[in-house]
Amino acid sequence: MTAPTLKISEIFYSLQGETSRTGLPTVFVRLTGCPLRCVWCDTAYSFSGGTLMSLPAILAEVARHPTKRVCVSGGEPLAQKNCLPLLTALCDAGCDVSLETSGALDVSGVDPRVSKIVDLKAPGSGEVERNLWSNLQYLTPHDELKLVLADRADYDWAVAQLRQHGLIGRCPILMAPVQGSLEPGTLADWILADGLPVRLQVQLHKLLWGNMRGK
Ligand code: SF4
Repeated sequence: MTAPTLKISEIFYSLQGETSRTGLPTVFVRLTGCPLRCVWCDTAYSFSGGTLMSLPAILAEVARHPTKRVCVSGGEPLAQKNCLPLLTALCDAGCDVSLETSGALDVSGVDPRVSKIVDLKAPGSGEVERNLWSNLQYLTPHDELKLVLADRADYDWAVAQLRQHGLIGRCPILMAPVQGSLEPGTLADWILADGLPVRLQVQLHKLLWGNMRGK
């Protein structure tokens, strides 16, 4: 049987810039392709191109780096059906695996050992209609829900969704400002004023290196 293949945009070693794993050395496996077009997307270069790699070749490339912490990202990694066997193979290899996904595609088949970082797209993304609400039922305490917010309207929408869907306490919740649209300090003030039990996230890799690919 031939090994599954995936279109890979890049595999690189850096510090995790987001989520509760921020600051930890991590190998990133960025898959090519995404069916969404968020207006503030900062990885549009991953929409096309890339290199076709077999699953064993991906595992070998990951293993070259000095950490077992792996983040599978995109693009939208779940847009490739072989993302699921990749996630399972990474777990079987003893890796601590997280998956960054748009929240628009079904996460029910993701290996339960994987920590799912699931976006909930706010209106300012231009893709709010793509939220697959059934995904919320699969969130567990070792997953995280991420809301990227462009303005006060996005923030108010986010707070309403968290309350309406009973999401607070289900898993860690991340709120991140859109760079250049919403000041992190402003979002921090709103979170504090509302007493929200969420984590403010700023993208560490951009503070360290700016908007540089492969970092
Ligand atoms: S889902 Fe992610 S990769 Fe796709 S357009 Fe939105 S931000 Fe970009």
